Amino acid sequence: MKVVLEDLTKKFPVRDRKGRGDVTAVDRLRFEIPDGYLIGLLGPSGCGKSTVLNLISGLLQPTEGRIFFGEEDVTLLPPEKRGIGLVFQNYALYPHLTVKQNILFPLENLKGKDKLTKAEMLQKAEETAKLVQIDGLLDRKPAELSGGQQQRVAIARALVKMPKVLLLDEPLSNLDARLRIQTREEIRRIQRETKVTTVFVTHDQEEAMSISDLIVVMKEGVVQQIGRPQEVYDSPNNLFVAKFLGTPPINVFEGRVRGHRLYIGDDAVLDADSVPDGEVYVGVRPEGFLMRETGALSCRMDRVQVMGRDISVVSANDAALNTAVRAIIGTESEVTKTAASAPEGSEIRFDLIPRKVFLFDRRTEKRIFLEEGGQ
Ligand code: ATP
Repeated sequence: MKVVLEDLTKKFPVRDRKGRGDVTAVDRLRFEIPDGYLIGLLGPSGCGKSTVLNLISGLLQPTEGRIFFGEEDVTLLPPEKRGIGLVFQNYALYPHLTVKQNILFPLENLKGKDKLTKAEMLQKAEETAKLVQIDGLLDRKPAELSGGQQQRVAIARALVKMPKVLLLDEPLSNLDARLRIQTREEIRRIQRETKVTTVFVTHDQEEAMSISDLIVVMKEGVVQQIGRPQEVYDSPNNLFVAKFLGTPPINVFEGRVRGHRLYIGDDAVLDADSVPDGEVYVGVRPEGFLMRETGALSCRMDRVQVMGRDISVVSANDAALNTAVRAIIGTESEVTKTAASAPEGSEIRFDLIPRKVFLFDRRTEKRIFLEEGGQ
């Protein structure tokens, strides 16, 4: 089922010391979720993610705008008429019911032509339990399950009615790090198998990047960028998006363009043929540094951090907004040995890989492309 959000705005009335006013939680949101896609709705706390999800579910009514499921305008439909499945962070299972009874619950409430026989209900519940791999736990109560198992039950309960749209609000937040990774892979598998259009809300960029077909990055109720995770990472629209995606985070420097050259401090680091003179922010992904004795950018060595497969060379530069400049370098290279032996405070030099470097206007923080047509 395709979902279309058409200029959605949601304002909440609030009262503060200055009197009454409105907070705009979602501001003219416009995007289309293609049928069968998993969308990661991503942004910092308070950016309006849950509000968007609640608008799609019908738990909230928009102040303006419309929502379509396929060709049907569902803006005024109550949640129970929309055919949605909802999963929350806190599982929200019925503690006094067994796993089987929890999964059966939505089916028992079906009315009219949708009503099922007991045998049909049991068959559906068992099929769904198998899909989420909890078919061995059907007679247990929620308190007798791990967090990951409880979340699977919640997903089964949301899926058993074959919803048109599955909505997941921070479903992994209560799980420990290892279980989060395992469960997010499970959600991806289940979503692929059922092909149900899914919206997944999270503030964790890595989580959203790893399982989504498309990510939607939001800030203060406004969509900043929509795209395939890799595309958004490789070509962020603005400084906010560049900073939000990536671990370790992007390194940001104050820089300037003079005479078609990009400078960080006094170092001319790259050609910038099509960029007019002006002050810019320079974002450099940690994998965008090449450590070389003759490198264009000079930094002061701080320390080397070993991170398994790679090492991270941590250094400082007066033009950097990050207190530590992080460069990721493969462990196999000769430079690694040089880096590891450079004393603290000594000068180290880097060349920059142009496609890993992004320029942003200092005032608007919007992307300025280094070459015509982007790169
Ligand atoms: P989090 O990740 O912390 O859950 P979020 O991105 O989901 O945050 P929302 O819960 O959608 O953010 O909230 C968006 C904005 O709307 C916030 O500024 C919040 O304070 C405000 N807001 C949400 N619900 C209400 C409400 N019922 N009344 C007033 N303001 C609200």
